[in-house]
Amino acid sequence: MPKIGKIVVIIGPMFAGKTTRLLKEIQKARKGSRKAVLFKSGIDNRYGESEVVTHDGARLPAMVLPDGERCISVLRKAAKEYDIIGIDEGQFWDNTDGLVEELNRLASNSKSIYISMLNSKAVYIPMLNRKLKGELFDIGYELLACADHIYTLRSKCWKCGRKASFTQRITPWPKSNNMADFVGGAKDYQPICSTCLSKIDNPGL
Ligand SMILES: [Zn+2]
Repeated sequence: MPKIGKIVVIIGPMFAGKTTRLLKEIQKARKGSRKAVLFKSGIDNRYGESEVVTHDGARLPAMVLPDGERCISVLRKAAKEYDIIGIDEGQFWDNTDGLVEELNRLASNSKSIYISMLNSKAVYIPMLNRKLKGELFDIGYELLACADHIYTLRSKCWKCGRKASFTQRITPWPKSNNMADFVGGAKDYQPICSTCLSKIDNPGL
């Protein structure tokens, strides 16, 4: 039977278990002689450059997938050796060099692509009076449009404990245009539900 490629997107707020799900999907897909490779961004060095680590401590070796033009050549090279390609934290790449088109091309060549990503840019910036609920990262629009399967995960609201679909920045935003400065953990970001989000329109609440 011919192998069928696909694009699977795992999307949700922070602390929803996206990376855990990504690792499980890769391990499940890696049956028989199918070889898998896992990529991560060089921007996200929270747990070192050579592995992906979940918030609860599971880990898998990973390689850095550069951004810009080199991203495509690294993916093509990997596709010669691997059948399954995992990408963690997909929001760190943009589509200016045709990443999504390349993922589509690989999927049509029997590769299985698994990619996790944040669903929305973090919300609530009281000092700027801005709220970004519903604003996807650039790559999200194209990726979701071409996904064969989408897993939507939710987390637990840090204010009320109910299911949370969004992420709130709880410390002041970095005064920077550098994406790396925005990377953070539980100290800087928490999951929040729509109801609690709607109550923080006013600065100070
Ligand atoms: Zn809530």
